[in-house]
Amino acid sequence: MFLAVHAAVGAVAGNAVNNPLAAFTLGFISHFFTDMVPHGDEGMYQGYKSGSKVVRALLYVGMDALATVVLIVLIFLKQDFFSTANVALGIIGGVLPDLLVGIAEVMKPKGRRWLYRKFDDFRCFHMRNHHFFIGHFRRGQKDIPLKYGLMLQATALAILMKVIF
Ligand SMILES: [Zn+2]
Repeated sequence: MFLAVHAAVGAVAGNAVNNPLAAFTLGFISHFFTDMVPHGDEGMYQGYKSGSKVVRALLYVGMDALATVVLIVLIFLKQDFFSTANVALGIIGGVLPDLLVGIAEVMKPKGRRWLYRKFDDFRCFHMRNHHFFIGHFRRGQKDIPLKYGLMLQATALAILMKVIF
């Protein structure tokens, strides 16, 4: 999913509880459930991994990151939350799994070092969620086409905006 979607879900999650640790935890957990909805970026990820579409994937992630920053700024400029800290922690928890996976990709864990292995275990766990539903409903499929994924994510973001603002 877009980081922007994860950030928005994290903000909603953080706003739903009144304890910082719960806000962070709920945001973090929300990431994996959100990722279970097929969202079309599997090909993008594979293109990056194989080296065939690195620029395209980096542009996609870069634009998403920019949109996420704008979204977060808007969330805090426009909204007066009961606890700004909880909303912030919900957002951090919500985007953290993708940041950890990003670090794992950049570090390219190959050796036997403990931290590298842990990063890679986490990356595999994170990717498994992406195939959870699609694997049940469409055998052998790993994702939906990107254009449907984009439509789905745009709709999800629009609904989340309605909830937040
Ligand atoms: Zn993710």
